[in-house]
Amino acid sequence: MYPFQFESAASEQDAIALLGANPDARFLAGGTTLVDLMKHDVERPARVVDINQLSLTTVEEIDGGGLRIGAMVRNSDLANHPLVRERYPVLSQALLAGASPQLRNMATTGGNLLQRARCQYFRDVANACNKREPGSGCSALHGINRIHAVLGTSEQCIATHPSDMAVALAALDAIVRVRGAGGERTIPLVDFHLMPHDRPDRETRLEHGELIVSVDVPPLPFAKRSLYIKVRDRASYAFTLASAAVALDVRDGVIRAARIALGGVATKPWRVPDAESALENTSADGAAFGRAAELALSGAVAREHNAFKIELAKRTLIRALTRAAAIA
Ligand SMILES: Cc1cc2nc3c(=O)[nH]c(=O)nc-3n(C[C@H](O)[C@H](O)[C@H](O)COP(=O)(O)OP(=O)(O)OC[C@H]3O[C@@H](n4cnc5c(N)ncnc54)[C@H](O)[C@@H]3O)c2cc1C
Ligand code: SF4
Repeated sequence: MYPFQFESAASEQDAIALLGANPDARFLAGGTTLVDLMKHDVERPARVVDINQLSLTTVEEIDGGGLRIGAMVRNSDLANHPLVRERYPVLSQALLAGASPQLRNMATTGGNLLQRARCQYFRDVANACNKREPGSGCSALHGINRIHAVLGTSEQCIATHPSDMAVALAALDAIVRVRGAGGERTIPLVDFHLMPHDRPDRETRLEHGELIVSVDVPPLPFAKRSLYIKVRDRASYAFTLASAAVALDVRDGVIRAARIALGGVATKPWRVPDAESALENTSADGAAFGRAAELALSGAVAREHNAFKIELAKRTLIRALTRAAAIA
């Protein structure tokens, strides 16, 4: 480790001012991403602003039956919140599929959205990485790229977005509320994360000095029929190879509406509106689910070691849709 300034923010305004005053400052929430990266020299903030004193720790009901989730709500508390379990099982399941109980007890809603790539070359400063050092090259393109993305990639970066929670929130049309020196604004979760294009170091629409204050999940009655399936190398404590967050509105065997997002295969939480539209007004059966899966992966580009992910993601999605349709 190296010397850095440590400040504790007493209020949201305080946090925003402390961060905004230093271009090399970072917020510290649960620390499960940031401290790791500091230990590996991947991130070297000059100032760390602890936001653990902020009262962004509640889950509140909002108009129409949605939920407002404070940015500092811990992943364990959110996964086990009775209203989340009842109204948005997909979100609870995605959270419980992530990391370990100890990590979930520390990890926060805001920090989870901003967790960084698990690409091995990003985390080892001996390797070239455009995300860590723009213009240095991408070691994964012709390296070991088994865990890397097949959707939303560029020639500059093929790292997947690692969050499980964000995939469920993408399917649920969540809205991220952020506050900065200029006031508050909202960003739809599906637009919050950026694809790498030629700037893989720019990962989200958040500006320096902005604090995530909450995530709003709008009401979605048919989300009671939702679920998350994650496929990984180990049964627990492993990042996803392919995952699917789905919600289905099925009446009399016909799909009225569908929500689908994929994880582990794309550079951001990957919502697939074309596959959703293709399912609307069709029978909830294997043929329809197969067509949706083909559409969802239609733009996939495989690299040397990750072609298996395309078939894996299709099968994961078909299994998730089949199970969701069977929920009473
Ligand atoms: C061994 C291991 C296994 C894991 N496995 C999984 C997994 O399977 N699935 C999964 O989804 N995740 C997994 N994770 C990642 C974990 O979920 C994240 O590390 C965690 O959610 C980050 O939250 P945090 O509060 O600890 O963030 P921090 O480390 O405190 O912060 C992360 C980043 O977000 C910024 N930040 C935090 N809060 C705010 C805010 N309110 N506003 C603006 N910026 C903010 C920080 O400045 C920092 O840049 C794993 C992590 C580890 C270490
Ligand atoms: S895939 Fe992205 S994160 Fe990994 S080495 Fe390439 S540029 Fe870096």
